[in-house]
Amino acid sequence: MSLGLALVGRELAVNNPLVRKPGIYDPETIFALVRKSPVKQVVLDGDDVKICSVRLRVFAYKGCQCVSCGVVGTRVYKERGVDQIRWHLNLYAVVDGKEILMTKDHTVPKCLGGSNALSNLQPMCAKCNFAKGAKYDSLG
Ligand SMILES: [Zn+2]
Repeated sequence: MSLGLALVGRELAVNNPLVRKPGIYDPETIFALVRKSPVKQVVLDGDDVKICSVRLRVFAYKGCQCVSCGVVGTRVYKERGVDQIRWHLNLYAVVDGKEILMTKDHTVPKCLGGSNALSNLQPMCAKCNFAKGAKYDSLG
């Protein structure tokens, strides 16, 4: 299983630092927008933000809680990679004052033939996702 750069937690993403806009968005507000198909993009405080990503749909339809450790994503930020132009939305949980990026996880890993369909995806924090990925990577 490979982790895209966007799936790795902030402290792990040393090669892809993120730029963050000021402002915290409420997950319920954001994910209500995501469920409002066919809206694909919204303007949030002056920036066009894509809201039709598979990752955001996972949170919108399956909730914001990590299926593995139970942390709950409670804040959404507008962020982008330093080399990217477009802003996107990232969901974070806060544990002991530290932010943990929430990601989408393949229930059946892609390396074992799992699909990208919503039915095979679940919310998982970056720490658990990284640990799960490492486990499958070690299987070769
Ligand atoms: Zn977790």
